[in-house]
Amino acid sequence: MATGNINVSVENIFPLIKKFLYSDHEIFLRELISNATDATLKLKHLTNIGEAKVEYGNPMIEIKVDKEAKQLHIIDQGLGMTADEVQKYINEVAFSGAEEFLEKYKDSAKDAGIIGHFGLGFYSAFMVADKVEIITKSYKDEPAAHWTCDGSTSYTLEAHDKAERGTEIILHINEEEESFLEDSKISELLTKYNKFMPIPIKFGTKTETLPKPEDAKEEDPAPTQEVDNIINNPSPAWTKQPADLKEEDYKGFYRELYPMQFEEPLFNIHLNVDYPFNLTGILYFPKLGQDMSIQKDKIQLYQNQVFVTDNVEGIVPEFLTMLRGVIDSPDIPLNVSRSYLQADGAVKKISSYITRKVADKLSSLFKNDREDFEKKWNDIKVVIEYGMLSEDKFFEKADKFALYPTVDDTYLTFEELQEKIKEQQTDKDNKLVVLYASNKDEQHAYIAAAKDKGYEVLLLDSPIVSHLIQKLETSKENVSFVRVDGDHIDNLIKKDEETISKLSDEEKEALKGDLEKVIPTTTYTVQLEAMDSTASPFMITQPEFMRRMKEMQQTGGGGMFGMGNMPEMYNLIVNTNHDLITQIKDATAEAEKERLIKQSLDLAKLSQNLLKGEELTDFIKRSFEMIK
Ligand code: ADP
Ligand code: MG
Repeated sequence: MATGNINVSVENIFPLIKKFLYSDHEIFLRELISNATDATLKLKHLTNIGEAKVEYGNPMIEIKVDKEAKQLHIIDQGLGMTADEVQKYINEVAFSGAEEFLEKYKDSAKDAGIIGHFGLGFYSAFMVADKVEIITKSYKDEPAAHWTCDGSTSYTLEAHDKAERGTEIILHINEEEESFLEDSKISELLTKYNKFMPIPIKFGTKTETLPKPEDAKEEDPAPTQEVDNIINNPSPAWTKQPADLKEEDYKGFYRELYPMQFEEPLFNIHLNVDYPFNLTGILYFPKLGQDMSIQKDKIQLYQNQVFVTDNVEGIVPEFLTMLRGVIDSPDIPLNVSRSYLQADGAVKKISSYITRKVADKLSSLFKNDREDFEKKWNDIKVVIEYGMLSEDKFFEKADKFALYPTVDDTYLTFEELQEKIKEQQTDKDNKLVVLYASNKDEQHAYIAAAKDKGYEVLLLDSPIVSHLIQKLETSKENVSFVRVDGDHIDNLIKKDEETISKLSDEEKEALKGDLEKVIPTTTYTVQLEAMDSTASPFMITQPEFMRRMKEMQQTGGGGMFGMGNMPEMYNLIVNTNHDLITQIKDATAEAEKERLIKQSLDLAKLSQNLLKGEELTDFIKRSFEMIK
């Protein structure tokens, strides 16, 4: 028997490992199963290239809990270690065998999918165990070795009679960590970290029901048998070639990933690249609707089929974190901070690759089946609009397929929209004026008025639409957006109506004076306009600029600080050609004049949803009086 000291460069590394290496103690299991997987894949590689002349067979990894003895066993049928190798790979900490293996078999082992890198994975066992044993038998013709260490820097190494190839790790779980002896806890961890690892993982057995034999009686119970309980799917969809997968396979994999999710995804994007970085994965577009917040943290990041995290911030562009699915890349550095990650060249490339793939997929969906794309638009638009706002590269591509629905449910691209409105909807400066509504019910009167004039009105109702509009106005030449109840609409009205006012200048002057006596001018700017006599007598519009600033503030507009207390300001447009206005002008009794103005203002406010509280109560009272 050999004894010795573990060769560590830092004195007493164990307390360090226990406390600081990983704040998450549970990852020890992931590390040990990764090692077992590596050991199995290495053997597979060596048999493939003829260097190991043994039967590879159908190896699996087994996890066993011995609650009585307070032990956890991780058993593999991989390449094993000779005593010398234990000496080298285990006793010389910070010596990553995986790295050495990859170095030695550089060219042939590139695609072997080996996980280990840091050389401290094995020692994470001491985060939960007082004592750790390794019993291992190499595929080489040498006796098995038995290594024991109680968490100090000394170990024992002796021969063992283990006959079958492979390694068994025995953890003597310490008192504080006894939850790791619960089946339910181990099951939970296996599902979280190992669900898609490439070697079958057995945890206990399960009862399987067999078909009844032909001659069985009605009341006979169906026969059952005990079978290995394999907890993982060793070849998940993302590891396969897109050409080998059907629509059903993608949907099936989505259910595997999100068993509690009953809604089907809208479509998927298969990521698959091996140069200049290695990345595979499948992203899904779920039905998103209007909500942007609750959807995050659904994309899972894997490295060689080992789950790492479901926080992909910094790796996937922000706007795509609303998607779901899996990304698997061994090239993402994980032992660094997130802010460093964003500056990392490889990660930047990965991020822009993903963006490009998503844009290409959307583009092909748009081209190949526009009707279907239109149907899905309302469920995917937040992602696309958010992407157009935040990534210029994405904007360029999305500009060709982003849709702008009208209030009548026609879906137009921006180009189509421009073409459609270029004759009629230009203002005095020949700028294209895009009219839009944000709520069909609330802005009904304004929509109707605009449609009467033959204008096209869009329905833009996503939460970030004011930001998007701002972006479109700055990136497109000569386009301005106006909400149907916004003030710029006057420009359009004035332009296409050469209506002459019924009132003389003096009459206008007097009318304005009368109106301003009743109407609070701190909130309303009174504007007299000569319009069609059928157009509304009083109309309230809000300066487009001001409303948009407010909206952007609410949805977190960048750089909009300090505008928190902007006053409410509106325009009151008075149609001098309307009979009611003539009536107001001609009213001789002051009280009558005031009553008419008040009532008209309230009606205008009502149509803008601005009449509330006491004002509304007064209005209703006054109205009842009037019809009495
Ligand atoms: P890494 O996995 O990054 O190489 P670890 O600390 O996890 O570092 O493991 C150290 C080394 O110990 C491995 O590289 C491997 O050579 C050896 N080893 C660990 N577990 C096993 C195992 N189950 N079977 C064979 N060798 C193993
Ligand atoms: Mg390891």
